[in-house]
Amino acid sequence: MRTIVAGNWKMHKDASTTRALVQELRIGLQGAAEGVEVVIAPPFPFLAVALEEAAGTRVRVAAQNCHEAEQGAFTGEVSAAMLKGMGVQHCIIGHSERRQYFGETDQRVHLKIQALLKHGITPIYCCGESRSEREAGQHFDVVRVQMKTALGELSTAQMKDVVIAYEPVWAIGTGLTASNEQAQEMHAHIRSLLATHGADVSEVVPILYGGSCKPDNAAGIFAQPDVNGGLIGGAALVAEQFLAIISAASKA
Ligand code: PEP
Repeated sequence: MRTIVAGNWKMHKDASTTRALVQELRIGLQGAAEGVEVVIAPPFPFLAVALEEAAGTRVRVAAQNCHEAEQGAFTGEVSAAMLKGMGVQHCIIGHSERRQYFGETDQRVHLKIQALLKHGITPIYCCGESRSEREAGQHFDVVRVQMKTALGELSTAQMKDVVIAYEPVWAIGTGLTASNEQAQEMHAHIRSLLATHGADVSEVVPILYGGSCKPDNAAGIFAQPDVNGGLIGGAALVAEQFLAIISAASKA
């Protein structure tokens, strides 16, 4: 199973700090954590700088969102075709902040995933329950419905090109992390849902954990059998912290 550590920069950095951070990652990754796929997701305006700095290195560049249409009258939007044309290889899709602030639904996310796969871009599909849903004991059902809506129509071949990120909403940017046990039981649940697309799908699709993953808790989470790496927010903005998390993933 592949191990992936992806950094979601959200709406942070500028061109020069993007360049500097990618340079620090290039240096820090030389001869280190070789089995880990490293992905960074800067904001749209800095993708070109990140791609330029990452060229010829192990660092892969992702977008944080895309529009499902090829082109058209969608002011302010960016298509999967445009991302592909730049050399972007991954795209975070369905992040809870997109759902919460921009009204994104799993129906919409499904269309975006189809567009990404059509252009050969790997979707990093985010799912996860809110705090109230967990407190009501609905978390397994919530994730099941999210995945069915967003991924249910994909073919087995398409599913094999998807990466899942389980991100409990109550853990994102809050400093609250799922316990190792909470992460593992949800990842095992997701793995069993993937198996409905075929046993081979559940064996190849990486499931990342996201939600206040930091250098001091990464090793415990990554040691869980169904956790295949992480989607990292705040700690991905500081090279030293992101590299420490990548190192933890390489030892898991
Ligand atoms: C995220 O934004 O996907 C995330 C996991 O953020 P943080 O690590 O800051 O909780």
